[in-house]
Amino acid sequence: MATLQRFQFSYGSDNYGVLLHDTDTGQTACIDAGDADAVMNALEQQGWSLSHLLITHHHGDHTAGLGAVKSATGCQVIGPHPVSQPIIGIDQHVGDGDTFQFAGRAVNVLHTPGHTADMINFYFPEDKLVFTGDTLFSMGCGRLFEGNAAMMLNSVNKLKALPHDTLVYCAHEYTATNARFAMAVDPDNVALQQRSVEVTRLRAAGEATVPTLLQLELQTNPFLRTDNPQLRQSLGMDTADDVSVFAELRERRNQY
Ligand SMILES: [Zn+2]
Repeated sequence: MATLQRFQFSYGSDNYGVLLHDTDTGQTACIDAGDADAVMNALEQQGWSLSHLLITHHHGDHTAGLGAVKSATGCQVIGPHPVSQPIIGIDQHVGDGDTFQFAGRAVNVLHTPGHTADMINFYFPEDKLVFTGDTLFSMGCGRLFEGNAAMMLNSVNKLKALPHDTLVYCAHEYTATNARFAMAVDPDNVALQQRSVEVTRLRAAGEATVPTLLQLELQTNPFLRTDNPQLRQSLGMDTADDVSVFAELRERRNQY
């Protein structure tokens, strides 16, 4: 089985979309469709025809182009079960633990509510890729619009359990701000210091900081490190439970 070809493109102020292409079957998937023109331009640029559209959650910057992309390409649209707000145009609803086929490989669905109630993430075990939508960002996590800290912690723990060499595709370029916040709460973390320097270099060169490796996130993302003694000490929460530490981090990030 050939490795999936990947093409990441920007749209909106800081969104990323991704195309996945399999040369054996000719199938192509797009993760989310916030901007139909951006999706169609990316397809044209690569010379690929869209067969599947995978939707992570209902927010407009992930779904606004769904209808136009579907009618232009006739793609199969796979997305979450309706919870807070239904998404028009989904052909196949999937939930936690479900598996579907794309280009001859299994795609596993993880339900990761917290940012929204419907959020799902797509894990490609054979290609070691995960698409985390607005659940996990590089050195950050999504805001809690439709969930609480306990729910989001449970969601990120599902991602933490994936193999550490999994490549993480997040839906936004928030990394530079996240790095500054992470340095404020976890200042003695050497891996974080190094990653911050790298992020500054990448952004100065106009390059993306996404995708990121799960291993790197486990070392640098404060929201994945609620059990870390050094981080807890810097928050003054040595003996607090993980949910309280997570909630404190999220609240401080909201104010940052
Ligand atoms: Zn969102």
